[in-house]
Amino acid sequence: MALRNNVAAASALADAVRSTLGPRGLDKMLVSDGDVLVTNDGVTVLQNAKVEHPTARMLIDQSTAQDSQAGDGTTTTVILTAELLQNALELTERGVHPSIIGRGFRMAWEACESGLKEIARPMSEEQHLQAVQTSLAGKSDEGIRAHLSNLAVEAALSLSEEVDGVASADASLVKVVTDRGEQSMASELVHGLVLPKEKIHPQMELLPKGGRIMLLDGGISRRKPEIDISLKVTDLGMLAALNERELADVQKRVDAISALGVDLLCVRDGIDDDARGMLHSAGITAYRRLERPDLELLSRATGATLVHEISLAAEDDLGEFSSLSETNWHGVNHLLLVGSQSRGLTLVVRGTSNIRIEEIERCFEDAIQVACNLVESPQLLPGGGATQMALARRLRRHAETVPGREQLAIEAFAAALDSIPRILAENAGLSPLDESIRLNAAQDEGGDWIGLDLFTGEPRDMAGAGIVEPLLVTRHAIEGATEAAISVLRIDDVLWAEQDAQEPDWKTDDSDED
Ligand code: ADP
Ligand code: MG
Repeated sequence: MALRNNVAAASALADAVRSTLGPRGLDKMLVSDGDVLVTNDGVTVLQNAKVEHPTARMLIDQSTAQDSQAGDGTTTTVILTAELLQNALELTERGVHPSIIGRGFRMAWEACESGLKEIARPMSEEQHLQAVQTSLAGKSDEGIRAHLSNLAVEAALSLSEEVDGVASADASLVKVVTDRGEQSMASELVHGLVLPKEKIHPQMELLPKGGRIMLLDGGISRRKPEIDISLKVTDLGMLAALNERELADVQKRVDAISALGVDLLCVRDGIDDDARGMLHSAGITAYRRLERPDLELLSRATGATLVHEISLAAEDDLGEFSSLSETNWHGVNHLLLVGSQSRGLTLVVRGTSNIRIEEIERCFEDAIQVACNLVESPQLLPGGGATQMALARRLRRHAETVPGREQLAIEAFAAALDSIPRILAENAGLSPLDESIRLNAAQDEGGDWIGLDLFTGEPRDMAGAGIVEPLLVTRHAIEGATEAAISVLRIDDVLWAEQDAQEPDWKTDDSDED
């Protein structure tokens, strides 16, 4: 039976990450070809695992999507999907058809959606930082977590803009550069764009007072003839004339740039020696070999549009910047440009080793995503399993009102949600069973916001404990898990029925029976 194999695959995957869930989760050490990666991050574990089973791949994709859209909640997504499927499998064994289960799951999700609206509360200023900190729970070490959370919130606030009363902050406007050699606590946020580049001529000027910038999506060098011609040089004069024509052509392009009033030129490709001298004489500061994403960041920071053909460039393609300076970190020269639009920030990640630097980069990427999402939708839910417990309680009440077998599926959904507080407790060395019972009782008394504080081991008000998480993250995780579970349920006879023989990895003992 395909469903059983698929569920086994999902469960195996969930087992691989469940011990990382929560602030007391364990780190996983991934070793591949001699490279070592230590992480507490579910998605990192999954992305680095060599997994071929189609269902497992789908779950990994689902959690990758969760990571890119919400910046957090990846482990939760995988665990929930596997629990939903496990419970669904049990129902099919009791004779409930997968399509009825799918329908019940959808009804349960709809009930969760309205439940989430009731549970969520608007975010206060102080909670912005708390939510980012919660999302980094268990990653890296405490000091750097607090530091990165602060930087992420600072970045999100400075990137936030309001258009027609709608606030937003675009996390992709933050450039990350690394500077190896100092402690990671020295990582900092620079207002402006920092790129590891050196101007092409040492005597070109820095522009501390700003000026106009052109971004060239190409390079400046002698044009190669378009057709392959072989010249038979009959006299030296001919060669010189050709050389002169080529130079004149380069000069013409530099003149055109200069005529537009460009102070700073950044190009994607090369600038050859002739052009370098000409640009210098024209008083233009230039950088070459910028990567495309960096050109785009410059474009957004300065308002310049990318020019493809110099002869077609116009003045309104230019952008403005308010200062250009350079700085040298551990032997690497960096340009620092502050755009006119005050957009564009750079995180300088510091650390003494590459492993450390990469870890910090990953943490910051999640933190900035969460911080920016919160600018757009400043709604919070309680962490510590409170939300899942509160939803499960609602679903059980709701299930009673649903006639038919879908009722069983809604109960199964509730049971899957229960797994989150259970696993959180387990990972903190507490009794999963006792803690769920205690939490359930505590919510009876104190309401939806009572969750497990895993550091004291007591149920308490999550707002007071500062354990809050974005509505967006939790919502997305539950919705994604529902979708993934339903699509696995829909696969009756997967293609790979034929390939069964090649899939020993995921076979558990009981899946051999069928
Ligand atoms: P995910 O990849 O799903 O984000 P995490 O390992 O980050 O997984 O764990 C997130 C879970 O940990 C959430 O349910 C969150 O509420 C919970 N959590 C985070 N910090 C705390 C805390 N201090 N006490 C209790 N629960 C916490
Ligand atoms: Mg997390």
